[in-house]
Amino acid sequence: MRKLAHASVLLLALHPLAEAAKLRVVATIPELVDITQRVGGDLVSVDGLARGTEDIHQVVMKPSFVTKLNRAASVVYLGLTVEHGFMPGLLDVARNPAMRPDPDTLNCLGPGCVDCSAGVRVLEKPESLSRAQGELHPQGNPHYNLNPENGRAIARNIAAGLSRIDPAHAADYEKNLTTYLAELDPKIAEWKELAAPLKGVKAVSYHKDVPYLGAFTGIDFVDTIELKPGVAPTPTHLAELVKKMREQKVSLIVREQQYDAKAPAWLAEQTGAKVAVIGTMANSLPGTETFIKLSEANLKNLLKAAGR
Ligand SMILES: [Zn+2]
Repeated sequence: MRKLAHASVLLLALHPLAEAAKLRVVATIPELVDITQRVGGDLVSVDGLARGTEDIHQVVMKPSFVTKLNRAASVVYLGLTVEHGFMPGLLDVARNPAMRPDPDTLNCLGPGCVDCSAGVRVLEKPESLSRAQGELHPQGNPHYNLNPENGRAIARNIAAGLSRIDPAHAADYEKNLTTYLAELDPKIAEWKELAAPLKGVKAVSYHKDVPYLGAFTGIDFVDTIELKPGVAPTPTHLAELVKKMREQKVSLIVREQQYDAKAPAWLAEQTGAKVAVIGTMANSLPGTETFIKLSEANLKNLLKAAGR
């Protein structure tokens, strides 16, 4: 074992700039790949898991994910159980001591785990662990990546995580974080101004993934097309929704691109509300390759559909 350790130290010494010397990081979703790349710079190589067009609650697992997780020094994830459909199972099979699934909570356990939700103000947090909101949001609403302001917490958590795992380069990660925030902060101020006309606009979404977007834009989301998170709409629910939308003068329907277009189109026909298509992850729609581009594209699509 010691011989092996010596051999790998020697190997690293001979190739200090080789790809193998980079910190291998896996990020669960595309915008976390993007922000990890920004904060990690040349020091890290980042692999992603979910495709942006997928439903984060139903990511299709591939054997290559196990290999990526097995080799990684760190895994960066949104947390709040949103990746529980795929991450605990993958971590179990990947057998990486730096990132194991907690047998009780299924959360990531170990020095390589970077939970981006640390410090985020969680909305719809239940008083006690409850499945009243369906099976998918037991720890409160996990879709905080749709509030652009939470990009700051995400980037800070990634910088802190990388510095913990690779303390020799902590100053580099801190510097990259500062550069990223210097780009993000003025964008947030600009988007806040752009979003002003959306304040008070009543809307429904397909899935309950919009409370954080509502908090940022001022859009008043009154209901969802789904019965509960993860529970498909019933004809009775849709009929009641039409009534509610007419009564409350709901003028906007938000369809997340991964959901079926039929129910939103039918509701639009019944109520005269306009449909805005948004992405819930980067790489979900054209021009949404990064966290910043996704935030901007979603806002512009909402403004356009709302006629503002
Ligand atoms: Zn959800």
